[in-house]
Amino acid sequence: MGVLVVGSINADLTVTAPHIPAPGETVLGRELRVGPGGKGANQAVAAARAGARVSLVGAVGQDSFQANALRLLQAAGVNLSGVQVRPEATGVALITVSAGGENAITVASGANAALTPDDLPADLSLWTHLLLQQELPPDITLAAAQRAHAAGLHVTLNAAPSRERTPALLACTTHLIVNEHELAALAGEDKDVAEVARALLTAGPHAVTVTLGAQGSLTVTADGETHRLAAFPVTALDTTGAGDTFCGVLVARLAQGEALRSALHWAGVAAALTCTRPGAQAAMPDWAEVQQAGA
Ligand code: ATP
Repeated sequence: MGVLVVGSINADLTVTAPHIPAPGETVLGRELRVGPGGKGANQAVAAARAGARVSLVGAVGQDSFQANALRLLQAAGVNLSGVQVRPEATGVALITVSAGGENAITVASGANAALTPDDLPADLSLWTHLLLQQELPPDITLAAAQRAHAAGLHVTLNAAPSRERTPALLACTTHLIVNEHELAALAGEDKDVAEVARALLTAGPHAVTVTLGAQGSLTVTADGETHRLAAFPVTALDTTGAGDTFCGVLVARLAQGEALRSALHWAGVAAALTCTRPGAQAAMPDWAEVQQAGA
């Protein structure tokens, strides 16, 4: 039992500003916050806080951002024996958060970009669930999915950030999670969300979840189920990390044997709570808070 995350580790440099700058524009923001991030690390922390046994494969640099990038992973008890310290810089994400709570993010991948399929564990059967995003080089993500699929693991792909559609990757994916923009990039169509999600089921996944921000989420499955879940009502302050919380908690609860609809519920509650606080990992709730809020 347990969740293996193969993904990015970054330091997040965040500034809150009146609005997100347009091209060519300079906006005066508030103070700089430096915190741990990266979609892989974020989802690993979310999954560990939701009670799963979690291991992370990734890379950081030997620099001043390293300790910050690993701090909350260590605190959450994530197994970091698969994290390399490399000569490249630790990945950095430059995040602007608007007064309205929206964000815009630019990533310098650094050590994350140096990972190759050779860095994957030899025996994936030590885990039941694999969780992937799209911030690492495509060849390691694809190799992880293919080896995990062959070993019978449940493979969840959060297809974020958007990349060109890779049929071989979708073919090895058990559960695909996208937001509306990523759905449009993958499916290239502007039809009804449920219809587009259902069409993606023919590409390989047994389930497709579309996260819809303050509108909640929609999941369709190859068994013909449709789950529409309203967002858990909160006043959103900073939505950074909402999607990562959703993915990490969903996989953690599935890995602990919970049914899909119930796991989706807890993922939505946890993601909403993350929106009520600034930052990504630091804003993620622990399991006691999620249970109390969503009971
Ligand atoms: P981000 O990139 O900001 O982390 P995302 O675009 O990947 O997020 P969203 O669809 O915005 O993903 O959000 C993921 C989930 O978080 C939603 O499905 C919902 O459950 C929850 N969520 C997001 N925004 C809100 C909100 N304003 N109120 C309550 N829940 C929210």
